[in-house]
Amino acid sequence: MEPVYYGYHRLLHSHRYLYKHHHIIHHLSVVVQPITSYTFTFLERLSYTLLFSLPAILLNFITGISLEALFVYYLVFDALNSLGHLNTEIFPDGYQQSFLKWVLYTPSFHRQHHKRYIKNYCLFMPIFDKLGGTVCPHTEEVFVQAKKGYKR
Ligand SMILES: [Zn+2]
Ligand SMILES: [Zn+2]
Repeated sequence: MEPVYYGYHRLLHSHRYLYKHHHIIHHLSVVVQPITSYTFTFLERLSYTLLFSLPAILLNFITGISLEALFVYYLVFDALNSLGHLNTEIFPDGYQQSFLKWVLYTPSFHRQHHKRYIKNYCLFMPIFDKLGGTVCPHTEEVFVQAKKGYKR
């Protein structure tokens, strides 16, 4: 789902109609808050519901999936989505020097997407921005400044 979302998100930014009539609503939040993770047009939200349901649907088709697992999937998904829209940095010092920075994004990482628009497109895994050459070069600097309490 991550690489599909990465490509879809880049399309939302590069396709003039899709950006102007749908994705721009999410980007009205230059200063992000957890509620920002729910601000979409109806059709954009519907497209995400379809996309983000695919793993559960495919898994259910292949092996079956319990309602508990489905609940945990959507709970973790919403928690990670809200995490990316925190207007503060909660990850520990040194996180940007570890390989984990490519596995799970930080609030600073996604905040740069809202500020720069054409960088940091990933859903939760920055490795796809690394592979696509779209990592904002200021991400590490913003992380350090956020840890010091400086709002950029
Ligand atoms: Zn975007
Ligand atoms: Zn966002």
